[in-house]
Amino acid sequence: MELRLYDTLSREKRTFVPLDPNNVRMYVCGPTVYDFAHIGNARPVIVFDVLFRLLRHLYGEAHVKYVRNITDVDDKINDRAARDFPGLPLNEAIRKVTEQTGKQFHADVDALGALRPSVEPRATEHIGEMCEIIERLVAGGFAYVAEDHVLFSPQAMNAANSALPRYGALSKRSLDEMIAGARVDVAPYKRDATDFVLWKPSKPGEPSWPSPSGIRAEGRPGWHIECSAMAWKHLGEHFDIHGGGIDLVFPHHENEVAQTCCAFHRERMANYWMHNGFLQVESEKMSKSLGNFITIHELLGDWPGEVLRLNMLKTHYHSPIDWTMKSLEESARTLDDWYRVAADVAPGEPAAPVVEPLLDDLNTPQAIAALHGLRGNDIAGLAGSLRLLGFLSESAAQWEGRKQQASGVDAKEVERLLAERAAARSRKDFKESDRIRDLLAAMGVAIKDSKEGTTWEIAR
Ligand code: AMP
Ligand code: ZN
Repeated sequence: MELRLYDTLSREKRTFVPLDPNNVRMYVCGPTVYDFAHIGNARPVIVFDVLFRLLRHLYGEAHVKYVRNITDVDDKINDRAARDFPGLPLNEAIRKVTEQTGKQFHADVDALGALRPSVEPRATEHIGEMCEIIERLVAGGFAYVAEDHVLFSPQAMNAANSALPRYGALSKRSLDEMIAGARVDVAPYKRDATDFVLWKPSKPGEPSWPSPSGIRAEGRPGWHIECSAMAWKHLGEHFDIHGGGIDLVFPHHENEVAQTCCAFHRERMANYWMHNGFLQVESEKMSKSLGNFITIHELLGDWPGEVLRLNMLKTHYHSPIDWTMKSLEESARTLDDWYRVAADVAPGEPAAPVVEPLLDDLNTPQAIAALHGLRGNDIAGLAGSLRLLGFLSESAAQWEGRKQQASGVDAKEVERLLAERAAARSRKDFKESDRIRDLLAAMGVAIKDSKEGTTWEIAR
């Protein structure tokens, strides 16, 4: 069985052949830590977690290395630090913001059932690697120093007579069009409008580091160089898979490719570029101004993380996803059922009808359809397949208990009312037994009578 992945660069689904099957390497752009992550940010986390799990299943846990960075240098972080901790020196305030937000991000993604990546590098811990790449780029003629900035020149890259990729190849943009369409108010230190920043001076009070050679004043890195440096440090000059949301293709990933390939004289940075589609909420673009901006943290107050996970995976990662309450409710009901029948069962091997669609460019909707198919005839296979996909992290009792807790229903009180109802029924007081059933229904408890007795659950 072979894995096929859609590659944004070649615009086709190709058989995945790792550079080294004993060391399969994947890099995914992680969060900028200045605020709670929103549910759109959860999409790459969940999608690439499924791919990480699938790769571990195929190549062995010890043979897959997954790197997801934490961007802890950014203007948004600085602004947030100044706003939230006005009394502190900026650097201390920044540390507080990035620490708090980083912890929150971990709590969120753990709850979503995402495995921690093998390495989670922080930009601030890789400034040395950034300077080294920048110095190589300047030495190679791909970048230049101007007014304490270092700028990358896409024109120089495309003029180079070598096996480098063309700038614009990933995002399918032509450099000529970019030049023609460039804004007129270009920063004065840029030679060409399309040049982008590798390094820039820090404003007074902002975090700063010793600059690459040729610049005396301290400064700070641009965003794109951070990922080139962290990927290089942890995965090497050339690795297997690079992922992120579709919004990152241009300019972020285009610029990462340019930096890495020019610095190391490589034709490629990653062999497969994978991008998840965007998430919108109830058919609208999610934005703070529209008031429909939802954080993972808020959703976790109302739903178990696995419900959010299932809801995300019902849509193929490549397509846009419409996040709706209706779909969430459906996902919750599905998981309730799977927990009831499969959580306490010894899991079998993940079933072929589930694994096969996953191998076909992570076709999770089809894999989920196959799970429904297993429900009727192969519970061990269902349990094993659900675990492969990152579900069933709790026992059935824990799941039901959490649901009761979240609903505010007191299980002891329910049992007491059920005993009263049973007593009323045995003395044929049906008016009283109906009253108790209605009372339970009003509490959000559904009861089911059968020959074996009465069972109950929280109605969704
Ligand atoms: P950011 O912190 O904005 O750089 O985003 C972190 C990750 O979340 C990146 O991979 C983005 O592409 C992704 N992302 C941001 N917003 C959305 C969205 N609405 N839908 C899907 N992915 C998103
Ligand atoms: Zn990145």
